[in-house]
Amino acid sequence: MSSETDQPSKNLSPLNKPYFLSMQQRLEQLTHAPVDTLVLTTTDLERFKCSQCGVCCALPWNIHISKDYYDQWYHHFHQDPSGRFQRPFEQRQNPSQDDFADMRRQDNSFRCIFLEPDNRCYIHINYGEDALPSVCRTYPRMTLRHGSHYGADYLLGSCQSAPGLIAEHNQVYYYFEPPSGDTPLPIHYPNNLFPGELGRNENYLWVSLVLDVLSLDINTPLQRLGSLIHSLEYIALKTPEKITQAQLKLLYREQMQRSNQLNLEIAPENVQKKALEWFFQLMEPSFTPLLDHARRIYLEQAPWPSLAEEERLLLNQFLHAFLLRKVLAMPNKNPFYGEISFFQKFFLLSLHLLMVQMTADYYRSRTQSPLSIKQLSQAVNLIDGRYSQRCDWVQKQRINTLSPEDSLALMQTALSLNLGMMQAL
Ligand code: SF4
Repeated sequence: MSSETDQPSKNLSPLNKPYFLSMQQRLEQLTHAPVDTLVLTTTDLERFKCSQCGVCCALPWNIHISKDYYDQWYHHFHQDPSGRFQRPFEQRQNPSQDDFADMRRQDNSFRCIFLEPDNRCYIHINYGEDALPSVCRTYPRMTLRHGSHYGADYLLGSCQSAPGLIAEHNQVYYYFEPPSGDTPLPIHYPNNLFPGELGRNENYLWVSLVLDVLSLDINTPLQRLGSLIHSLEYIALKTPEKITQAQLKLLYREQMQRSNQLNLEIAPENVQKKALEWFFQLMEPSFTPLLDHARRIYLEQAPWPSLAEEERLLLNQFLHAFLLRKVLAMPNKNPFYGEISFFQKFFLLSLHLLMVQMTADYYRSRTQSPLSIKQLSQAVNLIDGRYSQRCDWVQKQRINTLSPEDSLALMQTALSLNLGMMQAL
């Protein structure tokens, strides 16, 4: 983390609050250059430096490679005299040009076949960084583009070097980018909602509306996210019509008024306990000490988590920064989740918040020390690293089968466990 760049390399301009109104002005600029992409970003991305810890090379997610990479390197590694890298890539069932195959793992492990015992990468050491597959070169820096429809650069929290940086950088920036000629990725429209597409401007305005709500300086990040259910319900009701800019402008005013006026109470004990029950189901049984910690709380054998004021402040600042990146990423179709709807995505985000909080509370109790950035970072690493790219987990939890109405109702429950405001039950 030592080689931070003080000056961003791109020509970034701050997107000022209120984001929605600033965005309306930026969209005016886009009407003069209709093929450019307006890219939203934060400067943590520019400051990130890979520590080559190797952790991300041993997580249970797919390390995908393109057909070009496969063609260039498969036989080279397969025929390596050491015999260590035979069949180095496994072709996917439904291969595409960009997601053609996955890195093979070492036997009985999630460790990439090229990960050495000292956690260094064989390819990186022997052939240099440029020889790495694109995902290994860029992770956790995400640069997602949908032609001129939407662009966002952001840092994924699943890398252990990322959450600390994320917590420090909350200003949203933008820049304009000319068309690249690459095939645009599919944008994640609220499926089952719009028969056509959410237009480019509507998409940017929606993201800006969410950013404004999340950036209000009242209530906690979880409450602000919860207040968005109002807009989400409006969108669900509009199905299957297209949402227009005029409707979004009205919705923005209504949502801001509503979010500003909300004076949310702590959720009833039975609702919070329901959220805690979910936590048991969401986490894999192998996380025994973490689950035991939550069970003791549930069974009232341990006190309900109660943070001191400084801890709550820290938690809320951290979760605000965490949510901000998630919102920038929202319009993108997560390549790992398969089919997951717009509303299911918001519910999933609420579940991640529940899991991050309870995991951070476990680290806090284990060390008997006040909640710290380090504990929060560890929690995000665990949850984002373990669960943010797992289609099988989403399916097992049946998140992908929920209706919009159910997703939004359940989102309320997931957000009820809010350590940023919570006093002892
Ligand atoms: S190829 Fe190297 S950088 Fe990529 S996952 Fe494997 S060990 Fe890690």
